[in-house]
Amino acid sequence: MFSYWRYFTFPKESVAGCRGLINQYNIRSLRIVSFAAFVLLILFSFFPFLIEKESPKFIAYLITAVIELGAYGCARWIEKKHLKRVPIFLNFLLFFSCAIAFGIYIGVITQPEKQAVNFMVFLICTQIIFVADPLLGLVINAAVLLVFSSITFRVKDLSHWQIDMVNALFASVGGIIFNWYMSYVVVKEMLTARRLEEERNRFEVESIRDDLTGLSNHRDFFQRLDLYIAAARRVRQTLCIIMMDVDHFKAYNDFYGHLKGDQVLKAIGGVLSRLTMEEKVFTARVGGEEFIVLWTENRLSEAQHLALKLRQMIIDLQIPHVKSRAAPYITASFGLYVLRGSTDTAPAEANITAEELYEYADQALYEAKKQGRDRIILLDSADKTLRQIVRVDKRTEPGL
Ligand code: GH3
Ligand code: MG
Ligand code: MG
Repeated sequence: MFSYWRYFTFPKESVAGCRGLINQYNIRSLRIVSFAAFVLLILFSFFPFLIEKESPKFIAYLITAVIELGAYGCARWIEKKHLKRVPIFLNFLLFFSCAIAFGIYIGVITQPEKQAVNFMVFLICTQIIFVADPLLGLVINAAVLLVFSSITFRVKDLSHWQIDMVNALFASVGGIIFNWYMSYVVVKEMLTARRLEEERNRFEVESIRDDLTGLSNHRDFFQRLDLYIAAARRVRQTLCIIMMDVDHFKAYNDFYGHLKGDQVLKAIGGVLSRLTMEEKVFTARVGGEEFIVLWTENRLSEAQHLALKLRQMIIDLQIPHVKSRAAPYITASFGLYVLRGSTDTAPAEANITAEELYEYADQALYEAKKQGRDRIILLDSADKTLRQIVRVDKRTEPGL
């Protein structure tokens, strides 16, 4: 709809950005304003002729106005229905042919040649502004005509057609300048609004992201946990949470250095991102070398399988750790807590809080550390027992 190719003074990317923005922009109010402006345009163009009762010219203007409005509506309809943006030349062609057709029409019905020429000039000039930027063109046309009509109609010695010519000329020149300026202002405003929104979005994302790993952070995790608990309660699904802690990481830092330690955390972050993609789970870094995996599951065996898979993914990194007493490479300990959804025979722990759930996972993790690290301890809400998972036997496992 808008053509910003004219605004060569704008940096390329901002023009491109604006196209997207203008599409999103709620232009309803602008349209109302432009419609009001259109009415003004008509009033101020016809008012002198109404007084002087030059009816053929008045009718011609009126028809043109209706055609303009129709063509404008038509362009918008085409745009809405078939195209994202009506190409500029299509708009131009539409209005230009209107101008010529009605110039000839006027020539025929009003006889004096001067009036036809006058009318052609007026139409072509205003259409060019209008076509270049329909909405703003309308507003500007009206504003400029309002000002210059009132000036030129006061000049006594000019003939009608001269008055109209001057009018049209002023309208065109003034319109183009005003139009450019207004578009510039609008574009600038929209760019500022967009920049502000981008900054706000970035801030929002940053406030829930962990810088080092790119995973969600502690704050995001606790927000999600509440949602997960509510959802699990509603759909009677089982909620699973893994709390994972890298083994002997202090010793790793002490021996290899803090930078190398950071690289390990990044690598683990990468593993968890992959797991997020593959298994549709939520992952977060909630502390220095502590991570969380959160998801809903239907079978206990699947939950165990996912924990085993994660453990293996960490082992597969094969990051040497000569100071670890668990293995010669980086390992982690895992506490898996499953909060079973309610069944017909056993209700779920309906009032469990996020903190309690976190605490249970921590208990399981603590047990894994206590038993020697590099292992998974499961705490099942059904029987409250802590047991190590070494492999998954899917055949004997009933559904959760
Ligand atoms: P455990 O097996 O019992 O978990 O022993 P650990 O040494 O891993 O546990 P501990 O809690 O004693 O030490 C955690 C270490 O994690 C301490 C700190 O140096 C390290 N750490 C925490 N955050 C970061 C970080 O952002 N980068 C690096 N490189 N190290 C971190
Ligand atoms: Mg720790
Ligand atoms: Mg640790």
